[in-house]
Amino acid sequence: MVRRLPLLAWMLAVDAAAQYPGAKPPPTQFQVGFRSIEQNRAKDILGALAGPSFRGRSPNNGDFDRAAGYVAARLQLIGIQPAGDDGGYFQHFSMTLARPVPDKCFLRSSDTKVNLVFGTDFVSNVRDSGDLPIPPIAFVHAPVGADLKALPLESLRGRWVFLSGPTDENPDFITYRVSPEGRERLTDARFFSAARTLTDPSRLSYRYVTDHPRPEQPAIGVTSFTADAIKKLAEATGASKFLEAGPVASVEAPTFQLVLRAEVTKTVQNHVNVVGILPGSDPRLKPEAVVIGSHLDHMGPGAGGTRFGADDNASGCAANLLIAEGMMRNPVKPRRSVVFGFWNLEEEGLHGSWLYVCRPKIALDKTVAYLNLDMVGRDENRPRAGVLAKDNTRSVYPGSVKTNSMDLFAILERNNRFVGLTLKDDYEDRTNRSDTRNFFEKGIPTLKVFTGEHEDYHRAGDTLDKINWTKMISIARWIYLSAQELASRLDRPRFERKPFVPPKN
Ligand SMILES: [Zn+2]
Repeated sequence: MVRRLPLLAWMLAVDAAAQYPGAKPPPTQFQVGFRSIEQNRAKDILGALAGPSFRGRSPNNGDFDRAAGYVAARLQLIGIQPAGDDGGYFQHFSMTLARPVPDKCFLRSSDTKVNLVFGTDFVSNVRDSGDLPIPPIAFVHAPVGADLKALPLESLRGRWVFLSGPTDENPDFITYRVSPEGRERLTDARFFSAARTLTDPSRLSYRYVTDHPRPEQPAIGVTSFTADAIKKLAEATGASKFLEAGPVASVEAPTFQLVLRAEVTKTVQNHVNVVGILPGSDPRLKPEAVVIGSHLDHMGPGAGGTRFGADDNASGCAANLLIAEGMMRNPVKPRRSVVFGFWNLEEEGLHGSWLYVCRPKIALDKTVAYLNLDMVGRDENRPRAGVLAKDNTRSVYPGSVKTNSMDLFAILERNNRFVGLTLKDDYEDRTNRSDTRNFFEKGIPTLKVFTGEHEDYHRAGDTLDKINWTKMISIARWIYLSAQELASRLDRPRFERKPFVPPKN
């Protein structure tokens, strides 16, 4: 008896540590799995993923593949079935890298009066060789404080738009661009302001999933111009108000065509996602799935040291594995299938999850929800905005969901009663900044779990010692319960697109 007491006390302490004051006990039928999501296991998994063996899980040097091997082994160990290619856990795909041949690339006007030199006047990431279509161009002079509402911004639709000053020095214009009204009026326009320095052409590459380039993907990627090149264009088109740079806002949209002639060389690289499945226990609901996804790649070695990515996104992957394990340990199994995805190449353009939606394990119209875990282990800290870590020890953003499925949000809110996190509205719509984008675009009810920004984002300081374990475990338990409900209730959350509404303060 005496010997058992400390053990019992320890178990209670562990439990208390992962449930915030006021949280209700979890539903009895999900309790075993819920309790299996605890700190020691989390530390094992996250410690391995963000530790020295995988050196920050870069997809470009073999480190990602070894981390993928670890995740696959862990899935196998806990009894999650493989859902990759050929009966394995890996979903194989290749990426094509197109690199411009600098002395075979140039931009000129169709009347050949302007001829811009690649590497000197501009640089561009291009996908294909040949004459590439450049949309009509326009010039916007928008001084700080200008009344943008008076400008004929509709005329910018679909154009390449040159701005008179650096965008980051023109806060009014930036605010306008991200506002619902600005977004509506500036559809499809691409904006350019003079680059301080051009990227070294040898470092340019345009990456896309071989055989699955995004349909809307332009053949021309990141492009930048020098101030001199923009001036040459403005002079050639007679954009006089733009060149004057006076205090009055102006828009000039000349009938002027540019042509980009490019030659590229292409190479192909092989990559993997890790995908596992827990088949549904109900034969009628088994063909449908809940997908839980987290990107496993990060940035690896860099100039400032190894970027281990403990928060970004070893935390999301550890939570994903803990949820899988919780479901396997729990005697009551989900009625729908649950797919566990560990995506590659998120940091370089959301490529792994894009490949998954092109080749899903369960058809997308049978995918009832996508739950994305990306950075779920820290306390938001943005001192300049007055947002401090000490006020965010329990908080999390259930991002994206309110722009696409209030049904899904209701399930999340209800299940939060059992953990007691503080659910906050994000001040920015980050749907396109994580793998959520690919599922959201396919009309699947989508959630982006995110604990917020901090000073170590994409830096060597994103390390294991800064993880808030109680929060990370609470999030894993919350998503575990929500996924259990999503996978077992008869109806499905509806996808209904709504505008993003930033919180009041
Ligand atoms: Zn991330």
